[in-house]
Amino acid sequence: MAAAFREVERIDLLMSHYRPESEVSQITRQAGEKETQVSPETLEVVERALYFSRLSGGAFDITIGPVFGLWNFREGKIPEEKSLQENLKKVDYRKIKVDRAKSSVYLESRGMELDLGAIAKGYAVDRASAVLRKEGVENFLVKAGGDLTVSGAKGNGVPWTIGIQHPRLPSELIGKLRPSQAAVSTSGDYEKFFFRGGERYHHILTPSTGLPARECQSVTILAPSAMDADALATSIFVLGPKKGFAILEHLPGVQAIIVDRRGSVLLSPRWPEGILSPP
Ligand code: ADP
Ligand code: MG
Repeated sequence: MAAAFREVERIDLLMSHYRPESEVSQITRQAGEKETQVSPETLEVVERALYFSRLSGGAFDITIGPVFGLWNFREGKIPEEKSLQENLKKVDYRKIKVDRAKSSVYLESRGMELDLGAIAKGYAVDRASAVLRKEGVENFLVKAGGDLTVSGAKGNGVPWTIGIQHPRLPSELIGKLRPSQAAVSTSGDYEKFFFRGGERYHHILTPSTGLPARECQSVTILAPSAMDADALATSIFVLGPKKGFAILEHLPGVQAIIVDRRGSVLLSPRWPEGILSPP
């Protein structure tokens, strides 16, 4: 367990945009100036993020930072229209240049920022799980916020049971999952939000407008890796049910549960037997 926690700390030191000394912060500081040499880990996460950006047609965008920074969810502050339009110009994943041979990442314009907040937590969970497996631990659950992996069982063959929280009734569940080895991530509009004029403003933004995505209340993804589950939960939250389920066609072994804007629970097709049950 200590080794797994150390691994999470190591990933955080590389990828947190809150830490000035991280590789991600260095990439942001050198935007429009020069490329940044990064670890294989950071390169892998940035490349995977770009894959999901392309797959989602830009609904997932790790250059959201300049727009995200205008919001203050703790104080309930909505950005001014002028600064929103100004900073939207700095959001474009196509301006991230990755050079695999040099192991470098470059943001093409000044003022761009890198924010791996919607994918790196999942990656850290994967890395911690890999450490546990390497140490010979077969039965475990690793959880960081809305991202988790399970392996094996709880003990005496009792399976891990993951409750999916009701997005509007915190003490209620909308369903239960019992996977034997998989990752589960949920993105919702009920963790970081404020109300203004009867409207809910939350922290998952549509990159084209800079405004909170409105199609879903929560998205839960079951996937082979927590990195993919994390990125997909955010991507599909922004895309909404129709386009969201459509991109799953490209991803065998990935399932989704969407609570849409009206509160209806929608399931992606082809759930394997015995994993999903009612609360
Ligand atoms: P959480 O971190 O609360 O589990 P997410 O995985 O959905 O939730 O990530 C939300 C974070 O990702 C935000 O705090 C912000 O930093 C960033 N973000 C917001 N909208 C997007 C988006 N459309 N694409 C990529 N990252 C985003
Ligand atoms: Mg996410």
